[in-house]
Formats: sequence, C-alpha cells, structure tokens
Amino acid sequence: MINRICFEPSRTLMEFRLLPGLTNENASIDKISLKTKLVHSIDLNIPIVSAAMQAVSGVDLSLSLAKEGGASFIYCSQPIDKQKEMIQKIKANKAGFVTPKTLAAEMLISDLFKLTNDLGFSTFPVIDKENTFLGLIGKNDFDISIHAKHRVCERMIGREKLKIGMNITSLHEAKNIILECHQNVLPIVDREFKLKFLVFRKDINNHLNYPLEVTDSFSRPLVGAAINTHDYSERAKELISAGVDVLTIDSSDGHSFYQKDTLEWLTKNFPHIPVIAGNVVTYEGFNYLVNAGAKAIKVGMGSGSICITQEQKGTGRGLATAIMEVVRARDDYFKINGEYIPVIADGGITTDRDIIIALALGADVVMMGRYFARAAESPTEKVVINNRVMKPYWGEGSFKARNWREARYQQTNFAEGVEGFVEYAGKLKDTLRETLSKIKSAMSSAGVVNICDLHNNACLEVMSALSIREGQVHDIFMP
Ligand code: IMP
Repeated sequence: MINRICFEPSRTLMEFRLLPGLTNENASIDKISLKTKLVHSIDLNIPIVSAAMQAVSGVDLSLSLAKEGGASFIYCSQPIDKQKEMIQKIKANKAGFVTPKTLAAEMLISDLFKLTNDLGFSTFPVIDKENTFLGLIGKNDFDISIHAKHRVCERMIGREKLKIGMNITSLHEAKNIILECHQNVLPIVDREFKLKFLVFRKDINNHLNYPLEVTDSFSRPLVGAAINTHDYSERAKELISAGVDVLTIDSSDGHSFYQKDTLEWLTKNFPHIPVIAGNVVTYEGFNYLVNAGAKAIKVGMGSGSICITQEQKGTGRGLATAIMEVVRARDDYFKINGEYIPVIADGGITTDRDIIIALALGADVVMMGRYFARAAESPTEKVVINNRVMKPYWGEGSFKARNWREARYQQTNFAEGVEGFVEYAGKLKDTLRETLSKIKSAMSSAGVVNICDLHNNACLEVMSALSIREGQVHDIFMP
C-alpha cells in the first residue's frame, strides 16, 4: 500500500504574488530594515547569502558580499588546506584594519627598497623578534642613493614620535585619532605594544561607506564554510582554526543519519560554532536536524538552476511548498521550545521577485548560486558567446565539480547538476543594491517594516496561469 500521496500540487515561487497592504509612515522605503538572523548568534544586515559552490563563493565575492551586509559560504569541494586558505585570506581583512607586512629593525635599506618595488606598497611597521612595535618606515624616510647601507632602525620614525592606537577595535575611534594627527597610517597595538594592525587614512572612508558591512567581533568580514559528512572532523577543525564563523553541511538530501552524526559530533566538539544543516523539504526533516543540533535549516531540493536531481531521481519539491512546510515546522518548534531556528531558502531563486516571495513565505534568508555567479567578483573568467558576455556556472553535482574526491554527490555514479553559462551582470554592489531596493519597495507596498513583520503580516496569493500572463508585458509592439 502506498504510504502517502499529496494531491495538492507542489508550488513554485513564481506562482505567488504579494498583496499590497496599508503603507503607513513607518513603512516608507527609507525606514525599512532588512536585518535578519542567519543563526541565533549571527545577524545579517541583508537576507542574502551566496551558495557554497566552486563557481560562486570565492574570496573576492565573499569580501564584497560581507561589505554589503550578507555572507558567503566557501565551498568544500576542494582540499581542506585550500578551503582553509580561502578563509584565512578573508579573515586577513579587517574592515579598515590591515594585517601588515612587517620588517625587522636590522634589515638593510637596499633590501627594503627592493621589497617596496616588489610589493608595490611603501609603508611598513618595524618590529622586534617578539612582535613589539618599534616604528614606521615609508618611502620618504630614505634615499636609496645615500642610505642603501643603513639599517631600517636608523631611518624609521620611532614609535615615541608617532600617534598610536592602543587596543582600538572600532574604525570610528581610529578615524577620530587619525584626523587629529598628521600621519597617513595609524599603528594599532595592544597594552604590551605588540603590533596588531595598521589603519590607513585612505581606507577609512571607504569602509565607512559600507554601513551594512557584517563582521565578527574582531571587525573581520563574516564568512561561512561548507563541510561534508565524510571528512567533517578534520575539515571543521581546520576551518574553525582559520576563524570561520558558521558551518553548513552541504548535501542535496540532509534528512539522513549522516547529518545527524555530523551535527552531534560538531555540537560536542565545537559547541561555540553554529552549524546549518540541510537541505530538507519536509516538516519531519526540519525536526530531525534541529533535534540533532542544527542552528538553522536550509530548504530546497531539486529546484536549483543547474539542478537535475528531479529529472534524474524523481525526488524533490517545489521550493514554495518546501518553504511553507518547513516554516510551519519552525513555527511549531518555536511555540513548543521557545527557540527560533532560521530557515534559509536555497535553489531556484532566480529573480528579485523570487527573493521577495521566499521571504514573505517565511524564509529568513535566501541562498543563491546563479545570481552571484554572474557577478564580476565571482571566481570565473568572462567569456563572449554569440556577442553576449557570459560567465561559466556549474553545479556541485556536475561532472566538472565531482572531480573533487569528497564531493557532495560522490556516492552516485550519475550527475545531479549541469554546466552552463550565465549572463555577466557587472559589479555585485550595483546588482545587489538594485535588488535590495526592490525588496524594500515590495515591503513598503505590503505595509511591513522588517522581515519579522513580513513573516507575520504578508498576504500572498496563488496566481492562475492567465493572471501570471496578465502580469507580464502584453499586447504591445516593442521594436
Ligand atoms: P541557484 O541559485 O538556482 O543557482 O541554486 C543554487 C543551489 O543549488 C545551491 O545552493 C545548492 O543547494 C544547489 N546545487 C548546487 N549544485 C547543485 C547540483 O549540481 N545539483 C543540484 N543542486 C545543486
């Protein structure tokens, strides 16, 4: 006998529209907040993250997205040391606080001159063997024709003559000091004068121009990383030592004992690192993973733009139905346990309109691959195909990505993803800001002021095929 057949068809995001509500003075676009929870302990300033995929989440994209208020997940379809290196590169940035190349006091000016030419920058902090800050040296502090044989310590400006930021962590504080002194660089040290960072005058405004930037408690960009259910103990340890903020278990079907074992092991060994689990598309899947320790749940199966899981295996669910089911489980769990578990809608969120509908259906965050693969900052090179500028994009379950030994889909001998191209979209900042304006504008029309208000008060309606057609451009000639 068949266990269960749902005759209610699975719904997709594009079948829904948000109904307008009363826009009062609190719901004007400039007052709307897109702040949301990625997990209980991490806030994002925009409800958008990039997928853990080779063609999507590289270092440049992660840095740009964190500046705009979202976060990336560095893919695990690569060796552990390479993934760790990417996290380290991201964490070496600190919202205006730079981890500098340092010089030993005994270095010859001739060597410094060469280094300056090789590296292309010219201001260096000088330290002793214990990393104690001694002074600064820049290109105006020596003349190579005269000082080549001098030592760096003879030409540097000693720390007693410099303004120094002691134990400073906020860029505003650093700005206040630097604006009052004549230096272009502010060394940041701890109480023992150990060098921590440099803050450059020219960088300050750049970072203050990104008020939504999300950072960790050391002002470094927020970043997540994917792990798999095979080498998780070793991989998680290395990623955590590199400073990763949050982990996600990467799987097309997360409702499994593999994820339970992984979650339980991580919760026991690294209780301070939140783990996002998934993907699931059912009420039961949510409860299973949350009971095993998941701090947020990723939802979606078979809906990604590069995904052929539904075609290959006949498994999956329309993303809108999947979100509604899991959100129902999330809300019930909250009522019973008082713990709010964010839901991340993942796969097949193609247009700005899809983002709005996914959030209105109850998702706290959307994860996207295709959207970000199109950006200038994604890790791939542009190509021209039929006079159109494109970027390559491929699934983690495609044969291309599966060459990696521990890949997510390694257990099977068939592909669950394809390779293709997406239209180049230019700088992420521009595309994303337009998207965010549309989300805010839709929320304003619906009369809601933040994501929680959207969840509680949005009214959505299923469209007939004809009403969808009516909502598109029709019956005009566009040459
Ligand atoms: P997109 O935003 O529609 O391009 O979907 C991206 C999402 O598709 C990812 O976050 C994954 O959940 C999922 N995904 C990535 N690679 C594959 C694949 O090869 N097959 C099926 N789903 C995939």
